Amino acid sequence: MSFTLAIVGRPNVGKSTLFNRLVGKKLALVDDQPGVTRDLREGEGRIADLRFTVIDSAGLEEATDDSLQGRMRRLTERAVEMADVCLFMIDARAGVLPADEVFADILRKKNANVILAANKGEGKAADATILEAYALGLGEPIRMSAEHGEGMGELMDVLRPIYDAHEEKAAADAPEVDVDVGEDDEDAPRIPTRAKPLQIAVVGRPNAGKSTLINKIIGEERLLTGPEAGITRDAISVQQDWGGVPMRIFDTAGMRRKAKVQEKLEKLSVSDGLRAVKFAEVVVVLLDVEIPFEQQDLRIADLAEREGRAVVVAVNKWDVEDEKQTKLKELRESFERLLPQLRGAPLVTVSAKTGKGLDRLQQAIMRAHEVWNRRISTAHLNRWLTGMLEQHPPPAPGGKRIKMRYMTQVKTRPPAFVVMTSHPDLMPESYKRYLINGLRVDFDMPGTPIRLYLRDQG
Ligand code: GDP
Ligand code: GDP
Repeated sequence: MSFTLAIVGRPNVGKSTLFNRLVGKKLALVDDQPGVTRDLREGEGRIADLRFTVIDSAGLEEATDDSLQGRMRRLTERAVEMADVCLFMIDARAGVLPADEVFADILRKKNANVILAANKGEGKAADATILEAYALGLGEPIRMSAEHGEGMGELMDVLRPIYDAHEEKAAADAPEVDVDVGEDDEDAPRIPTRAKPLQIAVVGRPNAGKSTLINKIIGEERLLTGPEAGITRDAISVQQDWGGVPMRIFDTAGMRRKAKVQEKLEKLSVSDGLRAVKFAEVVVVLLDVEIPFEQQDLRIADLAEREGRAVVVAVNKWDVEDEKQTKLKELRESFERLLPQLRGAPLVTVSAKTGKGLDRLQQAIMRAHEVWNRRISTAHLNRWLTGMLEQHPPPAPGGKRIKMRYMTQVKTRPPAFVVMTSHPDLMPESYKRYLINGLRVDFDMPGTPIRLYLRDQG
């Protein structure tokens, strides 16, 4: 499946205009392809060297009946499900309207990868909307004019890392699918051998020490190739060998410095982090030992888990801590209590200032990344499942016995498993947790979210 961008937003914001610009020609109104609703238009889009499928969810202007909202919602949800990334467009001249909030809500609920675009951005009238748009909580808006072709470079910058991550994933998944392809098949997809840098994001509250940490990593290796501003409009990243491993580090602190020009944007650090999390494979949640596990830390750690990223928690400024043993115990307890969803994730103490503990941090990152990519054989899994069922049989709610027959891993990055089961809807959460925790312990998978899906075996 090629990389797919969906353009969503309320009527008249300029979705079709952007669609036409990306696709480069006026298409017939409706492309009646199977699997695509008649209201969704599909075309082959490009910006510079990026080629992708574009879905336009426009075409609702004519509908005037009460069902408009419902249709719009369904159509948008549909587009979101088909897409790798959604471009959510608002009208910069009109401001942020209640209808826009409805869309933002859908996108958040669907956990979509979102690029926020304020269209009709030519001229001063758009300034106020740009500021307002931050309140949607979807990151920094791209100011564009679809009609005049402005903002396309910025769109490309934001799109590229998401696009690259998709291509990389497609390449990583390819060997599984293509094992049977004959050797002399010239059309067989080639698997790139070039090692891509491991993508990490360092996130945390202001003053946790993110800049100090990144500078230390860069300084110690003295192999600075960045900083490359403009990887995305607001994510500044450096590519850097760390312990001999190529890594790309997203610097959220740098993003904040950039935003300082507009002091109004204090809320930004959260949405910065949000965007960095989406680009990253491993998220380092950096805590300040003097104020660990603040609301903001918890929110971003939770977000990283929900986004399916590998997570390493690093406690910084360890050099100022006198009662190291006691403190460590305390930290581990808080961690378990406040972030149960990240159970087993590594907790590393560091001093960004002195450099102490950075080698352990690097190892924890590597290991979390390895686990995140882990694949377990079906035979192995099923032997394990049998043991788990014997040790602690599933419950029989209302006298109905839940039977589990077969388990397989369907995905990596993060690892996801499917269990064929009777009455999946009756399965208590606690039993799912028992299995997930079992997987984590028995297959030694710390620091990665684990997804477990139940499928009805009929
Ligand atoms: P859709 O309903 O979201 O697909 O919106 P359209 O693409 O049909 O655009 C709605 C109206 O906005 C049309 O009259 C466009 O010409 C106009 N429009 C689109 N993009 C821009 C822009 O960047 N600037 C201005 N001023 N008008 C635009
Ligand atoms: P950021 O906002 O997360 O990028 O934080 P900075 O890197 O700007 O650091 C905030 C403050 O904490 C600065 O005064 C740093 O010197 C200090 N700091 C950072 N790391 C350490 C550390 O490991 N130990 C100590 N004692 N101070 C640190």
